[in-house]
Amino acid sequence: MAKFNMDMKKNPIPTRDAEVRAHDFFEVATGYDEATAINEALRCLGCKNMPCTEGCPVNIRIPEFIAKIKEGDFDGAYDVISASSTLPAVCGRVCPQEVQCESRCVRGIKGEPVGIGRLERFVADFHNAHSKNPPKIENKNGKRVAVVGSGPSGLTCAGDLAKLGYDVTVFEALHTAGGVLVYGIPEFRLPKAIVEKEVDNLTAMGVNIMTNVIIGKTLTVDELFEDGFSAVYIASGAGLPSFMGIPGESYKGVYSANEFLTRANLMKAYKDNPETPIMKGGRVAVVGGGNVAMDAARVALRLGAEKVYVVYRRSMEELPARREEVEHAMEEGVEFILLTNPVEIFGYECGDLRDARRGFVTGIKCQKMQLGEPDERGRRRPVPIPDSEFTLDVETVVMSIGTTPNPLIKSTTEGLLVNKRGGIVVEESTGATSKEGVFAGGDAVTGAATVISAMGAGKIAAKAIDDYLKNK
Ligand code: FAD
Ligand code: SF4
Ligand code: SF4
Repeated sequence: MAKFNMDMKKNPIPTRDAEVRAHDFFEVATGYDEATAINEALRCLGCKNMPCTEGCPVNIRIPEFIAKIKEGDFDGAYDVISASSTLPAVCGRVCPQEVQCESRCVRGIKGEPVGIGRLERFVADFHNAHSKNPPKIENKNGKRVAVVGSGPSGLTCAGDLAKLGYDVTVFEALHTAGGVLVYGIPEFRLPKAIVEKEVDNLTAMGVNIMTNVIIGKTLTVDELFEDGFSAVYIASGAGLPSFMGIPGESYKGVYSANEFLTRANLMKAYKDNPETPIMKGGRVAVVGGGNVAMDAARVALRLGAEKVYVVYRRSMEELPARREEVEHAMEEGVEFILLTNPVEIFGYECGDLRDARRGFVTGIKCQKMQLGEPDERGRRRPVPIPDSEFTLDVETVVMSIGTTPNPLIKSTTEGLLVNKRGGIVVEESTGATSKEGVFAGGDAVTGAATVISAMGAGKIAAKAIDDYLKNK
């Protein structure tokens, strides 16, 4: 067997035909088989200084797990990954590897970097297909910790604390655990069975997950302490959608991306006789250019839309979504209307005048834009072109222009400081908040970010909570 594979290109990941997959919710990419994984692993040079590991927010020892793949020791590879990450099957699929671990890979200097994410996914899928149940944690230390929110940050913190012997309860507002992994990221990018498996692993380790409990309504953070919890980790995400504030946003047929995706993903609106209503078919405009917008556009296609537009106010160069997602959306037939900004949503009035959401969308008035001077982040500012308005005929509009943390927990927790964007203020190295015994991390602190950064924050907080409770 060759010692190294010096091919400049990564082994491509097999994907399902665009014309077929655009009409169903099955996973788009099907993953490496064993031979391809070993062949890709042979592209890794096993660099001693591990530059790739520095690019990973949870510092997975990448050359070590890849070396195990080269030997065909996939269980050994899983052990290396799981020492640093609790959700490898998730991160192998959704991490923006191109700006994290893979951006530091030396093979990327002359050619494509090693397919680290694809290899991580392979190892995790192999493990999930062949694994036995995780061991029960026997040595409990008798201390109770509450985790608010069951997204990647909460689940990671809960898992790490359970391993350390804590009695952990996760409180989740929705009826299913997983946060954005179940309600936001669609099935065709991240099958829900994978998230369920990760949640089952935690419950097998003794973590108690209580769904349908809203902290700030059902119980407050202070009441958690009164109930005997010694510390609280807040990982409630950033699920409050932003709107543009333009006329017509209250017509039926205008959704926030979060509402649209939750109805489709969590409540399975794509099935026959779904529990929840959703506009299906017709023409759909998704406003925004991030990953969430790509997900909403591709979901709209799969729900049966005859035409889906992504309307974005800058050019393709500034569009922030991952290239892979943009390419997949284009292959599936999503049309991009760039340098364009909606200024009004049209509709026809009907129904009860007392209903704030009466009337249905018939189109959006858009204005053409050009790029001006760079803003404070260095991105060229979109500037309206006078007299350039035109109408786009659509029946559904999905607003995907960002989210912020929900103010509920802040407004019901005495002494919890937040910044002007609503993020909980924490000490970076520990996740400690301004309130004794309360820690926070993930999107609730940073605003909308990534799965792996939310997990990284959960790990930091678990360690800090352990230190805090040992010294208390
Ligand atoms: P969340 O995942 O938001 O979880 C927070 C949980 O807390 C939720 O389940 C919520 O219901 C619960 N909660 C909120 N308030 C309360 C309360 N008061 N009481 C109890 N529970 C509460 N990142 C990537 O890295 N790659 C991607 O491809 C990617 N795609 C994305 C696609 C979409 C559509 C979206 C919306 C986000 C995407 N992200 C992606 C971002 C990523 O999912 C988030 O950064 C990550 O999930 C944040 O994790 P978290 O645990 O902080 O919060
Ligand atoms: Fe790369 Fe993400 Fe895996 Fe870290 S967790 S090695 S950043 S794919
Ligand atoms: Fe392998 Fe690239 Fe990491 Fe070097 S930088 S160890 S080649 S993955």
